Amino acid sequence: MKPKEEEAILIIYTGGTIGMVRDPVTRALHPFDFSHVQDQVPELRSFGCRIDTITFSPLIDSSDIKPEFWVRMVRIIEEHYEQYDGFIVLHGTDTMAYTASALSFMLENLQKPVILTGSQLPIGTLRTDGKENLITAIEIAAAQKDGQPLVPEVALYFENRLYRGNRTTKTSSEHFNAFSSPNYPPLAEIGINIKYNYGAIRYPTSVKPLRIHQNLETNIAILKLYPGMSENIVRAVMENKQTQAVILETYGSGNATTESWFLQSIEDAVKHGKVVVNITQCLAGKVDMTKYENGQKLLEAGVMNGYDLTTEAGLTKLMFLLGMRTGKQEIRSYLNKSLRGEISM
Ligand code: ASP
Repeated sequence: MKPKEEEAILIIYTGGTIGMVRDPVTRALHPFDFSHVQDQVPELRSFGCRIDTITFSPLIDSSDIKPEFWVRMVRIIEEHYEQYDGFIVLHGTDTMAYTASALSFMLENLQKPVILTGSQLPIGTLRTDGKENLITAIEIAAAQKDGQPLVPEVALYFENRLYRGNRTTKTSSEHFNAFSSPNYPPLAEIGINIKYNYGAIRYPTSVKPLRIHQNLETNIAILKLYPGMSENIVRAVMENKQTQAVILETYGSGNATTESWFLQSIEDAVKHGKVVVNITQCLAGKVDMTKYENGQKLLEAGVMNGYDLTTEAGLTKLMFLLGMRTGKQEIRSYLNKSLRGEISM
């Protein structure tokens, strides 16, 4: 086991509530520099492992996130991969589940922890959750056994739970417990001790060099079905020439209306080369298009099964797969596979 002093963690500070301060005039929160975070968490200076920081400029509220920022993150990780034992991405909560999902696909053969965290209350406030989140995330990123990291995946740490990043979704805008992983158990639960769920953590089966993917296709639509959705809305999405893929957010186990115009517009879109993926609107459970006649009609129209993907993971998986510019057949076969533990087969 490596001596503690040798361990090094890199914090990539992107912004988010954790480091925000209130504007004295508008009273709105806006991101502030990392020295502010350091002042509030003096423990960072005496952690028992080296902690370095790279700060995004400008810092962002995560509702401003876009793929260019994800590319910046994976480039930083690639560039510093050998010098650090683990990486922390300090990020706003609003889109943290999207970023965690995206990074999991963009970092192929990852063998080191990349832990995203943030907070619901700024770190300078009395009841902040930011301090505990940050300190525990660092502890997890630095945790090793026999010189090997305990969590060599993209994970999200929040309020006493460590989750696989691409299984998460933000489910509360007010509770400290802001994230859920409805279809996959926590990778670790934190009380007095950190209890790792070794059976749930993905360990690499072979040692391959890290490979980053930087091309992401963004012409993807998410169509959430609702009773009364009109034909012109559906057609506007399905017939758009730029659209490469559509996530259909369906009801229950993957059901939708069987109105002929609806099924026809999907069939036409598939014929024109669009990838249409079925993801359920339900927070938990998976799509099974064979269960009901309404689901079967989607299958017949050429819709792909999204299994138990979150919308965040489904969207970023499609961005990644379409960004690879491989053939549609290959994309279809990757959609039926778990690439980073994002679906249960
Ligand atoms: N709007 C903030 C952000 O996502 C919210 C947060 O960090 O909790 O950057």
